[in-house]
Amino acid sequence: MITRDAIYIGGKWVPASGGEKIEVINPATEEIVGTVPVGTEADVNDAILAARSAFASWSKSSIEERQGYLNAISAAISERGDEIAEVITSEVGTPINYSKMAMVGTPRVVARSYAKILDSFEWEEEVRNSLIVKEPIGVVGMITPWNFPLHQIIGKVAPALASGCTMVLKPSKEAPLNAFILADIIHDCGLPKGVFNLVSGHGSEIGKSISSHPEVDMVSFTGSTAAGVSVSKEASETVKRVTLELGGKSANIILDDADMAKAAKMSVYSCFNNSGQECSSLSRLLIPSTHREEIIEVISSTMERYSVGDPMDESIKCGPMVSESQQKSVSEYISKGISEGATVISGGLGTPEGVSRGFYVKPTVFADVTREMTIFREEIFGPVLSISTYETEEEAIIMANDSDYGLSGGVWSGDEKRAMRVAMAMRTGQVSINGGAFNISAPFGGYKLSGNGRELGSHGLEEFLEVKAIQR
Ligand code: NAD
Repeated sequence: MITRDAIYIGGKWVPASGGEKIEVINPATEEIVGTVPVGTEADVNDAILAARSAFASWSKSSIEERQGYLNAISAAISERGDEIAEVITSEVGTPINYSKMAMVGTPRVVARSYAKILDSFEWEEEVRNSLIVKEPIGVVGMITPWNFPLHQIIGKVAPALASGCTMVLKPSKEAPLNAFILADIIHDCGLPKGVFNLVSGHGSEIGKSISSHPEVDMVSFTGSTAAGVSVSKEASETVKRVTLELGGKSANIILDDADMAKAAKMSVYSCFNNSGQECSSLSRLLIPSTHREEIIEVISSTMERYSVGDPMDESIKCGPMVSESQQKSVSEYISKGISEGATVISGGLGTPEGVSRGFYVKPTVFADVTREMTIFREEIFGPVLSISTYETEEEAIIMANDSDYGLSGGVWSGDEKRAMRVAMAMRTGQVSINGGAFNISAPFGGYKLSGNGRELGSHGLEEFLEVKAIQR
C-alpha cells in the first residue's frame, strides 16, 4: 500500500488544501494499492504561480543544464525501473513484461532523446533582414491519462524542460502513483524549485482550473476526445495554445500480396498491446475477401495461445481492464458487435475461464464487420479486433479513411512501393509498413478527432516554443 499525502509545489511536498483522497485500485485484484490527495483549485493556483515565478530563470537556463537534468531523470527512471513497472502494473493492470519494456523503457529513452536533440537544435535562423528566434512558451499545464501513464507524462515533461518551460502536471486518477515517483526523482535531481509541480485530483475540477487559468500559456492534453474538446473550450477565453493527443480507431490494411501468415499474426499484437488500451491500437483489420479464410485461420490459432490472467505473471499477454467502468464499457461494445450481426471468431461476452476477480474481459475478435456497425466506428479501448473484408485497394483506402479519427495505421504488402502508396493515402498521423517499429524520435499525433499538435522528437519540442521575428 502506497500512501502519498502531499502534492509537489515550488520544490516542496505540501498537503493538498481539500483533505480528500483518491483510492488507487489494482484492477487485477480489486484491492486498494495506494492513495493520493485530491487537489483543489487553490492548489492549482499555487502550483501555477510557483511555475510562473520559476519561469524567469529557467527560461534562461543553459542547454547544458537542461541536458544534465534530462539525462539524470532518464538514469533515475532506469535505476528504479523494476519498482516503476510494478507500480504501473498494479495501477493499470499492464502485463509486467510489457510494463518493463514500454511503461519504463520508453519514458527512459524519451527523456534521454531530448537531451540529445538539444545537441543540434536550431534556436535561430536568418530570413532576409530578420533574425527568427525560438523561445519557451511559458507555463505549461499538462493533463495526462492512465493507459501509458509515465510515457505520456515524460512525452510532455521532457520537451518542456528541454525548451525552458515550467509546468504543472495533473496525472489521471486511475494511475497517479507513477507520477509521484517521477516527482521524487525530479526532486532528488535538484531541478530548480517551481520548474515542475504536481497536483493530483479530478479532471472535471482541477483539469478545468488548469485549462482556464490566465497564467497558463499552454495546455498539453492527452486523453479522450470528449475531455479534449472541453479543455479547448475552457482554454479559449485566454487564447492559450492547446495541444491534444486524443482517441483513435486505426485501420490495418493487409494487401493481397502480403506475407499473410505474418501479417495476420502481427495484427493480433498490434491491436491487443496493453490489453487493447492503447490510443494507437490497430483495432480495424481490413483484409482482401480473397484471403479471408486463410487470415482468419491464423488469427484464430494465435488467439488460442493468447493468455489472459494475472498481469504479474510473466507469461501472461493480456491483463484486466483498468477499471470496473472500463470493463463494463468494453463488454457493452462486445455485446453490440454480437447484436449488430458481426461474427465472433474468438472471445465474446463474459470473463475469461479461471478468472474469479478483477476487471477482465475476453479478448475478442469479430469478422464480417461492416462500416455501419458501432464496433467499426467507435473507439472501444479494449482487446476487441474488428475484421472487415474489401474487394479492391481503392476500397481498402476508403474504408480506412471512413473514420472520425486519424491517429495511426498499418499496411502489409510484398511490394514496398505499393505499401507506400497506400500509406500516403491514409488520413492519419502515423502509418507502420509491414510492422515497422515505433520510433520515439518520430512525431506522434493525430488527424481529425485524434487531435492537434505532435509529441516526441524535435516536432514535439517545437510545440513548446514561441517564434519571434526581429527585423534589422
Ligand atoms: P480521459 O479523457 O477521461 O482523462 C484524461 C485526463 O483528462 C485525466 O487526467 C482526466 O482527469 C482529465 N480530464 C477529464 N475530464 C477533463 C476535463 N473536462 N477537463 C480537463 N481535464 C479532464 O481519458 P482516459 O480515460 O484517461 O484515457 C483514455 C483516452 O485517452 C482514450 O480515448 C485514448 O484514445 C486517449 N489517449 C490518447 C493518446 C494519444 O496520444 N493520442 C494516448 C493515450 C490515450
